Amino acid sequence: MLDYRLSDETEALRTTVREFAREVIAPQIGEFYERDEFPTEIVRQMGELGLFGLPFPEEYGGAGGTYFDLCVALEELARVDSSMAITVEAGVSLGAMPIYRFGTEEQKREWLPRLCTGEALGAFGLTEPGGGSDAGATRTTARLEDGHWVINGSKAFITNSGTDLTSLVTVTAVTGTKPDGKKEISAIIVPSGTPGFTVGQRYSKVGWNASDTRELSFDDCRVPEENQVGERGRGYAQFLSILDEGRIAISALSVGLAQGCVDESVKYAAQREAFGQPIGRNQAVQFMIADMEVRASTARLAYYRAAEKMLRGEPFKREASIAKLYSSEVAMDNARYATQVHGGYGFMNEFPVGRFYRDAKILEIGEGTSEVQRMLIARDLGVG
Ligand SMILES: Cc1cc2nc3c(=O)[nH]c(=O)nc-3n(C[C@H](O)[C@H](O)[C@H](O)COP(=O)(O)OP(=O)(O)OC[C@H]3O[C@@H](n4cnc5c(N)ncnc54)[C@H](O)[C@@H]3O)c2cc1C
Repeated sequence: MLDYRLSDETEALRTTVREFAREVIAPQIGEFYERDEFPTEIVRQMGELGLFGLPFPEEYGGAGGTYFDLCVALEELARVDSSMAITVEAGVSLGAMPIYRFGTEEQKREWLPRLCTGEALGAFGLTEPGGGSDAGATRTTARLEDGHWVINGSKAFITNSGTDLTSLVTVTAVTGTKPDGKKEISAIIVPSGTPGFTVGQRYSKVGWNASDTRELSFDDCRVPEENQVGERGRGYAQFLSILDEGRIAISALSVGLAQGCVDESVKYAAQREAFGQPIGRNQAVQFMIADMEVRASTARLAYYRAAEKMLRGEPFKREASIAKLYSSEVAMDNARYATQVHGGYGFMNEFPVGRFYRDAKILEIGEGTSEVQRMLIARDLGVG
């Protein structure tokens, strides 16, 4: 039986997040965005709403929901603002999830309750200045010394890594060589404030300006051996599986942005007059908006399908890549057309579509570029 209706609980969550986004985020976010400032108070409020704990069990302070619930919440946030959506996405799916999926019971008890309430934010450090797509080319190293990992190297573009709420970053590092000569990569938790761990200045970005992205460096940074997450040498594989899930979340976020473009365009087309009538009376404008809705609706089905397979415990890699690839391109297209519908005002920062336009491009790059998604889909089809 095919049934993509939301459960009553998920529908109620959608309504709550939609109201929060419209009433709390929408009126203030533009100013934070223009000031390039992380809105700590809004993030705390999202924590009080339970958004950071959505897919985690209650015993760790979570809401006991599913990964799909998280996706629905991300869609509603991104419909209004992507900086806050990516803050939740990175905090949950990249910051807390590796600890939940692969951590020891002690690590879960130590970190998850605060990560679930949003009192603490976690980050995920895979990408390095030398490259992101080739994630196995990690150069950061960690050597064992007196029961401690001693970490040296740097990470680039790390979301949520330097906010007032940030408490940890989980990084990948080369911890040896495997019998086949390949790099042995492990994942290690580095708490904020550890000596030898330096958090750089915020990058000046094209979009996502109210989210926090920084370069990190490690100079003989020592953390206890117990901070290793999961098995030694499994760090690369663990992070890849975290990214598979994360792609469904980024797809949901992209659908939110694409739908926000429809919302804003429908409103504007009814208000703005040209040649003595609302611009929405012109078929050219109607068609642009209709096409935007078609793209947003079909992209939503793509992430629902990937999430459905994931929740059923079936392989979902290909569907996650399809959803991420398609919906990020849809977000980009819709942002372009929504700006067109708004004419000159679409190019002004005071209108949300200006923000949507700047925020859309990164969706085709982060958590695996469009080219990487195509490579994964082709590989899964047995091509090449
Ligand atoms: C705002 C922002 C936030 C981010 N947050 C995080 C985070 O929290 N944690 C984290 O670890 N990373 C994060 N990233 C990094 C992001 O995941 C990488 O930027 C992305 O994976 C691409 O890596 P790269 O920038 O090194 O590009 P590169 O890998 O250098 O790629 C450059 C271009 O070459 C193409 N290319 C590369 N290899 C191939 C190939 N084999 N075939 C065809 N084309 C190829 C790519 O598709 C791309 O078009 C973030 C990035 C940004 C901008």
